[in-house]
Amino acid sequence: MPVFSEALGRIKASPTVAITAEAQRLRAEGHDILSLSVGEPDFDTPRHIRDAAKAAIDRGETRYTPPDGLPELKRAVAAKFRRENGLDVGPEHVIVSTGGKQVLFNALLATLDPGDEVLIPAPYWVSYPDIALFAGARPVIIPTSASDGFKLRPEALAEAITPRTRWLILNSPGNPSGAGYSETELRALADVLLAHRHVWILADDIYEHLAYAPFRFATIAGVEPELASRTLTLNGVSKGYAMTGWRIGYGAAPEPLVRAMTKLQGQSTTSACTISQWAAVAALEGPQDHLVSFRNAFVRRRDLVVERLNAIPGIVCPRPEGAFYVYPDIAGVIGRRTPEGVEIRSDEDFVRALLAAKGVAVVHGAAFGLSPHFRISYAAADEVLGEACDRIADFCSTLR
Ligand code: PMP
Ligand code: GLU
Repeated sequence: MPVFSEALGRIKASPTVAITAEAQRLRAEGHDILSLSVGEPDFDTPRHIRDAAKAAIDRGETRYTPPDGLPELKRAVAAKFRRENGLDVGPEHVIVSTGGKQVLFNALLATLDPGDEVLIPAPYWVSYPDIALFAGARPVIIPTSASDGFKLRPEALAEAITPRTRWLILNSPGNPSGAGYSETELRALADVLLAHRHVWILADDIYEHLAYAPFRFATIAGVEPELASRTLTLNGVSKGYAMTGWRIGYGAAPEPLVRAMTKLQGQSTTSACTISQWAAVAALEGPQDHLVSFRNAFVRRRDLVVERLNAIPGIVCPRPEGAFYVYPDIAGVIGRRTPEGVEIRSDEDFVRALLAAKGVAVVHGAAFGLSPHFRISYAAADEVLGEACDRIADFCSTLR
């Protein structure tokens, strides 16, 4: 038995990844499973992007790239940040990594020391606190509420900042709540941050293209350019371009941070997959019309799921502004019992019993730091979503 590190002992396996793997295992065993647990679009990667990858292979683009990314992709990413986000960046401010997840990992591991604090509004994406913990830092969770639209209030931010605060992580539209910060809301947070010059901001914009009218996407370094000198703006092709498996994410940051992250990346993965980087060039520079059809499909599915869940006694489901998740409140079913007599004491009990009784895989709110809720990813076919809602309704009707 090898000896594992103290750092490894501080973290758990990613619950979103683990529950999805469990659902896949049950399905492979022949169980009738509807998996709404993983956050990835069900659409195929658009054809022109796939063609660009095949062409790259045939041109012999099969070797390492520089650790911070293919120059062509870094230029395309910088142009994207200028064009879509109003950020004043060039290729020297860009790093390309193996998914947005590696951008995050690089940034936190390159900057945090034991005792440092990372501010994370809850509900949060599962990986933020664990990566901070792995780096030896202390995640400081700031709860939000449905009545605030699951968004961080400026007063709560001001109260949470200490001399040890290194980062604030802002995710909009957010996983798991789908909440999106308007320009006005970002302005109010920026005003607090301007007064605390030691705090860096990690703006996780991975769901940028999944923002639903009337909500309009904005990013904090675009809203307040003075914060750009201490902001890492994270994005990638996974969610907007239906490219989760290609593993390409990127960030824009001041050059010293990009150099630090590149140093770390050069010692871990060397560079992101060359073929995927060429595919990402085609994604960013090619036609963008699929974004509209993806968005329309997601709006339709969001409305379907929100309506169906709100018709179930005991469940209250807010209508999110973006991403492809809903985060219903299940306080109304806590304390009830299944027909087998199992008490539903927590959202974890709820998702376990739902999977066992009806084969619907979702993720418990506790994994995202705010209970009692569960997360559905509605990036699935309308029929699957309709059937899953039927099963959830059936399941809830059996609780006493
Ligand atoms: N941020 C958030 C909020 C996410 O949900 C995800 C999805 N895994 C990521 C970042 C990273 O995505 P990827 O590594 O596929 O770019
Ligand atoms: N972000 C997705 C999710 O939350 C993918 C899995 C992961 O990386 O956590 O389900």
